[in-house]
Amino acid sequence: MSQPKRAPGGFPVVGVVGGGQLARMMQGPAVELGIQLTVLAETDTAAAALVVPSSPVGEHTDLDTVLAFARECDVVTFDHEHVPAHVLEALEDDGVTIHPTRAALHFAQDKLAMRERLSGLGIACPRWARATTAEEVTAFGDEIGWPVIAKTPRGGYDGKGVALAGSADDLADWIARIGEPGPLEGGLLLEEKVDFVRELAVLIARSPSGQAAAWPVVETVQTDGICTEVLAPAPGLDPHLASVATEAGLRIAGELGVTGVLAVEMFEVRGGSGEAAYVVNELAMRPHNSGHWSMDGAVTGQFEQHLRAVLDLPLGDPRPRAPWTVMANVLGGDLPEHEELYSAYRHIMARDPGAKVHVYGKGVRPGRKIGHVNVSATDLGAARERAGHAADYLRGVITE
Ligand code: ADP
Repeated sequence: MSQPKRAPGGFPVVGVVGGGQLARMMQGPAVELGIQLTVLAETDTAAAALVVPSSPVGEHTDLDTVLAFARECDVVTFDHEHVPAHVLEALEDDGVTIHPTRAALHFAQDKLAMRERLSGLGIACPRWARATTAEEVTAFGDEIGWPVIAKTPRGGYDGKGVALAGSADDLADWIARIGEPGPLEGGLLLEEKVDFVRELAVLIARSPSGQAAAWPVVETVQTDGICTEVLAPAPGLDPHLASVATEAGLRIAGELGVTGVLAVEMFEVRGGSGEAAYVVNELAMRPHNSGHWSMDGAVTGQFEQHLRAVLDLPLGDPRPRAPWTVMANVLGGDLPEHEELYSAYRHIMARDPGAKVHVYGKGVRPGRKIGHVNVSATDLGAARERAGHAADYLRGVITE
């Protein structure tokens, strides 16, 4: 395994398990801060492996591989939440410093554990239940009303592993489709279908010594279960809701002992007397799509802040630099090749010099996140139009 070359002057080596776009986007701030990054990548063409010179290839599920990787690092962090608990435990037993810790990550890896813990803390969540039998599914649906949302507790992302079920039979069909062993064996998470006004996200960074910083609450817009647009800050957000949602995020980070960036995905709902309120949907313990706007739109972007947090450095200022920043994801679409993407972004740069284009170096597949565009402006409508236009053009769905 190639070893990271240590920078002179006692600057630390941060290891990232997983070589996706999140690890890749840590490299820019790592270079600026003089921090050495090393990435345990899935392949040598993974998004981060293309830009981080020390990117050994290995499986995040293989204990020996992860351990050998981790021993070369001062601190280990993650591009995703899929490192198995026994691997995390072995790292900690070996004296490796990992952020977030195994104890915290558990609540991002297992949605049932997350619901239990948050409910225990009195944090507002959708009504939920664990179901292990068809009878329990029926009982939950009959009690709170159909349809219900069913989720596999582990391994879901971008809406995969989430189903809307009109009946227990519907759900049985879905379980059969997503394969064996059926998720009912370990318990399935059932939730009421929340009649939400919109989706929000609270992004927090917390360091091991307990310093925490919160970015403004943002609105996230999903299309077919994938986040396509983020509006920062969430337009027209009730100030009281903004403050209680942020407090909830900070409390979750503190109580769960999260280190690094924590994203708390929320639904905005109408409370009993019509007031704006939130319920928590889920947690991610790493930089998150809802925070990409901060790379250009905040004094400290989430990737820099994550590095500062996991190294227990003082945190940076999370305040916005502009009244509005809009992030539009570029999903793989009709431009089949990267060369075409390159000429497309030449066009974008010429058309809108203020648009900040971020490309992940990933192969273009329909629906896959291959980049994003940030636009900051004093007018929200203009920022949305410009970011959306750039993303659509890069995607190949418009030609002018
Ligand atoms: P993933 O882990 O795949 O991102 P999520 O739990 O975030 O899954 O769910 C994906 C999307 O499904 C959410 O962004 C939201 O639009 C919808 N969703 C999830 N849970 C509920 C719920 N209880 N009520 C209504 N919609 C939901």
